[in-house]
Amino acid sequence: MSKADYYQLLGVSRDADSDVLKKAYRKLAVKYHPDKNPDNPEAETKFKEVSEAYEVLKDADKRAAYDRYGHDAFKTGGMGNAGGGGGGFHDPFEMFREAFGGGGGGGIFEDLFGGGRSAGGAQPGADLRYDLEITLEQAAEGTEKEIRYNRSVACKKCMGSGAEPGSQKVTCSTCGGAGQVSSNRGFISFRQACPTCQGTGQKIEKPCSSCRGEGREMERSTVKIRIPAGIYTGAKLRSAGKGEAGQLGGSSGDLYIMVYVADHELFERHEDDLFCEIPIKFTLAALGGSIQVPTLFEKGSLKIPSGTQSGTTFRLRNQGMPHLRGNGKGDLLIRVQVEVPTKLNKDQCAKLEDYAEACGDPANPVSKSFLEKAKKFFR
Ligand SMILES: [Zn+2]
Ligand SMILES: [Zn+2]
Repeated sequence: MSKADYYQLLGVSRDADSDVLKKAYRKLAVKYHPDKNPDNPEAETKFKEVSEAYEVLKDADKRAAYDRYGHDAFKTGGMGNAGGGGGGFHDPFEMFREAFGGGGGGGIFEDLFGGGRSAGGAQPGADLRYDLEITLEQAAEGTEKEIRYNRSVACKKCMGSGAEPGSQKVTCSTCGGAGQVSSNRGFISFRQACPTCQGTGQKIEKPCSSCRGEGREMERSTVKIRIPAGIYTGAKLRSAGKGEAGQLGGSSGDLYIMVYVADHELFERHEDDLFCEIPIKFTLAALGGSIQVPTLFEKGSLKIPSGTQSGTTFRLRNQGMPHLRGNGKGDLLIRVQVEVPTKLNKDQCAKLEDYAEACGDPANPVSKSFLEKAKKFFR
């Protein structure tokens, strides 16, 4: 299920400042508040959605993460993980505490950067998303793109360990090296990963001065990606291992490239067929002839039979987009629009009047069939 865009939910632009956000949120929160909409699950859902959107966008860090990763930024912090206990989602604000780990210290950024604090040891890096726009021509031919983006990589100074080179790792004093601590909630005792050492049982004596013990640093990365011919909007390409670095020896995440094929000024795409509308002179439509038509890669020609009506569609086989899987191409569909001249000089007028006179009875098949059907309505 795809989630609505947070900015759209609040009805604000992507550069809205905090005042604008707050105003938009208050208005919607009042409108959809459960107290005002008893037994209205739709309003309740809406209330949760706008609350969630505001909760993220009002926080500069979360907003930056959302702008960069979209909803994926918060995926691993999934709603309704058992963390918070209390059943049901009647209080949306409680839901947020659960979703974003507000209480327990395991916040959104740990999730985002792949360091969920529950299990000890190695943590895989998060996946990244990159939105790439290409032209229809590029989608038709296939292309290669170089993508530049920021991602975390293992710190070069400490090789990802987080410890200053030459320093030792010492036993964690919080958990005595066990990697787990017990906590009591009501009558039940929970064992959870030690928050100090993240379950490793060890603590860095002297954090690396380059990465401050994080073990990772940001880097401008470049990746070359092949875009196959026939690619369509919404296609997702994966570059394995090009996401964020893992922690404590965890594997790197992947980079996902979301492809958007831009609209074309002449061609409209429907799956692998292309549509194009071309104006033709009314004399050509009547007399017939041949015209040049644009196709994606070279000029093609199209025979217009005499007596062609406006709106007629012609199909040029194999002049559409290549099929992404398998051989062959779609078709190019050309719809002709018969154009009636708007400015006629005296000579042209005279000739057309002669023509009209010569016609007498309608020589126009569409008019003829219309007149036959309409006869009984002419009283
Ligand atoms: Zn380091
Ligand atoms: Zn510990």
